[in-house]
Amino acid sequence: MEDCLFCKIIAGDIPSSKVYEDDLCYAFNDIDPQAPTHFLVIPKQHIQSVAAVDASNSAVVAHCFEVIAKIAKERGMDSFRVVSNIGEQAGQSVFHLHFHVLSGRDMTWPPG
Ligand code: 5GP
Repeated sequence: MEDCLFCKIIAGDIPSSKVYEDDLCYAFNDIDPQAPTHFLVIPKQHIQSVAAVDASNSAVVAHCFEVIAKIAKERGMDSFRVVSNIGEQAGQSVFHLHFHVLSGRDMTWPPG
């Protein structure tokens, strides 16, 4: 999608610190980390948010979770949080589906 920041990152038009890549998804470190480990896993297909997941794209989303588990296993991350904000009130600022993966510090609940 032309005006999407994360589509530009996937295309390599905007630099990013790559964590993982395959045909379906891309993972990179967040530019403003909220924990010692904070990376984003995104589908290469432009999907606006979890609210836009349906039968036509859910396999790609499931794959993102497989990738999260794979990276966590490889890094020995046995405790971590996965977050996806949907809509502005929930804190979504980039409207391309992404899963925040945060680890390396104590977390509180509920999130603010
Ligand atoms: P959201 O607020 O939509 O849940 O999350 C968007 C995330 O993207 C934020 O954590 C923000 O720091 C990150 N972000 C925004 N712009 C960039 C960028 O240009 N590069 C990287 N690596 N992360 C970004």
